[in-house]
Amino acid sequence: MSGLNRQSRFERGDDVVVMKFGGTSVEDSAAIRRLIGIVQSRQHHQPVVVVSALAKVTDQLLEAAHAAANGHLGSALATVRNIYVRHEALADSLVTGSAYGSLDRELRDEFRALESLLQDLQTSRHLDLALQDRLLGFGECFSSKLVSEALSEAGIKSAHVDARDCIFTDARHGQASPVWDSTNQRLQDTLSPLLQSARVPVLGGFIASTGDGVPTTLGRGGSDFSAAIVGAALGAARVEIWTDVDGVMTADPKLCADARVIRKMSFEEAAELAHFGAKVLHPATLAPAMRENIPVYVLNARRPEGEGTEISARARTGTSVSAITAKRNVVAVEVASSRGIDSALFNTVFGTFDQHACAVDVMGTSLGRISLLASSTAALPGIAADLQGVADVRWENHRALVCLVGENIRHQPDVARRVFAAVSDMDVRVLCQGASDRTISFLVEESKVEESVQRLHTLFFQKPELVRDWGGISSAFCQAG
Ligand code: ASP
Ligand code: MG
Repeated sequence: MSGLNRQSRFERGDDVVVMKFGGTSVEDSAAIRRLIGIVQSRQHHQPVVVVSALAKVTDQLLEAAHAAANGHLGSALATVRNIYVRHEALADSLVTGSAYGSLDRELRDEFRALESLLQDLQTSRHLDLALQDRLLGFGECFSSKLVSEALSEAGIKSAHVDARDCIFTDARHGQASPVWDSTNQRLQDTLSPLLQSARVPVLGGFIASTGDGVPTTLGRGGSDFSAAIVGAALGAARVEIWTDVDGVMTADPKLCADARVIRKMSFEEAAELAHFGAKVLHPATLAPAMRENIPVYVLNARRPEGEGTEISARARTGTSVSAITAKRNVVAVEVASSRGIDSALFNTVFGTFDQHACAVDVMGTSLGRISLLASSTAALPGIAADLQGVADVRWENHRALVCLVGENIRHQPDVARRVFAAVSDMDVRVLCQGASDRTISFLVEESKVEESVQRLHTLFFQKPELVRDWGGISSAFCQAG
């Protein structure tokens, strides 16, 4: 391809492929070699690589941070030492010569900085979210440097780019949101020249910084979101999420052995699925992709020849229910007021939850009652006390939210009826069909999650002929979109 041709193609962004590799896709040298092969297979496009920390590293860094803050510096340093040894061994097996020398020095310097942060933390005993973001970011810093050098070693011209210099966020540490204009501008300014000179930029996912340069993170699992942010800024042709499963599944295969890959689904369906607890994508990922209409593919790095799942504007699953998810550890909260529910009460109630930094999802409202979901009971006694005299707050924990997602699910009354019938013998609470056209969800006791997901999966995903034998409910399978 001529230089001119390449440049004009890049300007439209239509040949850029952003490839995100999750923790298990960089976990050891075999995984990184697979990554190299996959990037090689896309070299005739313009790949941009986004990587997570090596599998388990973010959890270990968090563990080390808590240990140091609790005065157990020895254990914190031992954990970090293990992380260092793991990276060092990978550098040794993947990179040689002077490149190895400088990578080794960089890793060493970074680990010293990490150790000294932990030492300070043992003295201050104060771990706030800002410091936590700084500490957790080390995982992606290390992995991205390692992968960039490994690609170069394999003959793919690459360039390490520090994502904290390109992705800017607000200061909501632990779960920051991008500041789009400055982020888009900086990503274009930094990555375009690299792509034009046929280099593969390699960025750590998950990490970002405020405009003032304070490190932030995009929330756990945030590397997917990073990839979508980069893709949107460049107007990429596609974003590929490389992981260790064959794609987005009809249910969590750990809950349901019959779960199968969804070949195509819409942005909206996938976003609902991520929001309702499917682990495969960070919930914020699809918004930038949807805005720029960039298809997202979920692919298995262990089986790169597989088709994976295509998530795009037009794609439809073709079934009435596209997937069933379950969110565990849910607390069902009921706020009741004998004076009825009006907007003033709504304001007071949500203001109080807000003051206690307790994020809630609204399940529904009825006469004198608001049903909410929270992920922890920690703030609830304080909230109940503050609302005393205004409303009565009660809660039940150990619940799970089971959710059926499908493009048109709400306009098929038959689906809700069949869901209800399938779980009628369980203690089902708060069936919610109103909030979105694409979901029907309900609460069950946590111990019943597996059984309810399996029953619903059999009901909606069993082969049509089997289902037909089972009671004439095959029509749902004819909903091609
Ligand atoms: N390493 C981060 C985490 O474990 C981000 C990611 O993997 O997407 O949450
Ligand atoms: Mg993930």
